Amino acid sequence: MIANLHNADIPRPVIEVISRLRELGHAVYLVGGCVRDMVRQVQPKDFDVATSALPQEVQAAFRKVIPTGIQHGTVTVVTGGNHVEVTTFRSEGDYLDGRRPSSVAFERDIVKDLSRRDFTINAMAYNPLDRELVDPFEGQKDLQAQLIRCVGSAQERFSEDGLRPLRAVRFAAVLGFTLDASTRDAIPATLDVFRKVALERVREEFVKLLMSPRAESGLLLLEQTGLLDVFLPELARAEPEVARQARHAAQVAAHAQEIRLAALLADLSTGPHARDLCLRLKFSNKAADLVGLLVEHAKLEARLEDSDPALRRLLARLGVPQLPDLLAVARARVEARAPELRPALEQLGARLEAIAATKPPLVARDLALTGKDIMATLGVSPSPIVGEATRFLVEAVLDDPSLNTPERLQDALRNWRSRPTGGA
Ligand code: ATP
Ligand code: MG
Repeated sequence: MIANLHNADIPRPVIEVISRLRELGHAVYLVGGCVRDMVRQVQPKDFDVATSALPQEVQAAFRKVIPTGIQHGTVTVVTGGNHVEVTTFRSEGDYLDGRRPSSVAFERDIVKDLSRRDFTINAMAYNPLDRELVDPFEGQKDLQAQLIRCVGSAQERFSEDGLRPLRAVRFAAVLGFTLDASTRDAIPATLDVFRKVALERVREEFVKLLMSPRAESGLLLLEQTGLLDVFLPELARAEPEVARQARHAAQVAAHAQEIRLAALLADLSTGPHARDLCLRLKFSNKAADLVGLLVEHAKLEARLEDSDPALRRLLARLGVPQLPDLLAVARARVEARAPELRPALEQLGARLEAIAATKPPLVARDLALTGKDIMATLGVSPSPIVGEATRFLVEAVLDDPSLNTPERLQDALRNWRSRPTGGA
């Protein structure tokens, strides 16, 4: 496996930063996720450099440096437009609150730095110039065995930082690995620490799990370990069959956060509840609004017999730009719950797309009459009746889009006005 490392494709700027620090006599390595990925023969997303040099020494060694997180020892070296993060070897003091260490100390020894890391497969360091791999916790062996195992005592590591159990399940899902038995067994006992973790951090890990090709088994493992009940009781407490279908729908859904979330939640909550749930997990307002909307309208299989006016009303509430997302959610749900409805759903989708393609009037601003025109036709000044008249016209064109010409709408307005119940 070390051969994979020697053949890995490491970006030039990263090599240059490592060479410079070594030239100055500092110990320097690639660390964490990138070493794991290179050993697995997967191209890393980013390359983190760790060094014995103190942050000031790193700053002094390069022309352009951004002090990204200098108090934690991280600086960003800018070389020819590329950014390389360099972090001084550190160890961490005791964790007092289950969230962050009471202190960090800079270290000269890479093994100290690797000891504070979460899992053995994430606790390897590699120097590509000397072709030296530092693997004090048998990370290579666990990679081979496809195991997620804590560095040291799982119980202790999970008690220090409550996010780690969720990261363990996330890595298991993303990599398709198994949790080592002692790592897995430590999760239920440390759930109280997990409860204290900021929901932004939980959300970040949860999204990585949800977006992975093995989301379904990841969600199941979250449930089995008790983690899910802490931040997503809606799923953890659902009927087993409903929960199973929800997990499956999320996994087969198109690869976008909001679509996967809506597919997961569609049969567990209402639109407004799904929106609140997303806000609770610190998703953006925009994402929460979209998920709420998609959940609200997700059950398209109930609309297979809908008339064109009913489908136009659906498009009016959904917004035409959201139609592809809604179809993606509906497809995932039908796939998971009633695959025999697939052809009928595709037909409905084609009808909705055809209706949308004709650009029918759906909302007040699509009307062939402006508010001013409506007031002139009715002979009134601004008053609540204008709103009522507008709503009447919108309903009329939703029923029959061909009414949307100035003349026909004016006729419709005059009839409405003269009706015994219409108008003032
Ligand atoms: P990914 O490919 O998903 O980014 P990664 O391994 O790079 O995976 P990061 O969250 O970017 O994961 O963290 C980088 C490294 O920092 C990890 O590989 C691990 O060594 C260490 N690390 C991150 N979070 C923790 C934590 N909560 N406790 C201990 N070590 C951690
Ligand atoms: Mg990373």
